Amino acid sequence: MKCPFCGCQSFYLKDQDDEYETYEFDVEKGEVNFHSEVNESDVPELREKTHCYCNQCAWNGKFGELKNSGG
Ligand SMILES: [Zn+2]
Repeated sequence: MKCPFCGCQSFYLKDQDDEYETYEFDVEKGEVNFHSEVNESDVPELREKTHCYCNQCAWNGKFGELKNSGG
């Protein structure tokens, strides 16, 4: 799993209720690992359709698209 645009493996989600609240995570080795400062009990459930954003470029899209990007 990686960004289809830049190959980065670091992403973030936005809170559905507060667009300024973000949750960063990495997808190294195909596993989702939220950063240590993220309280996982606050994180929205990560589904195929969850919108996520690349940390290094302007790419954003559904989490399911990441998994289908190969690699
Ligand atoms: Zn990217």
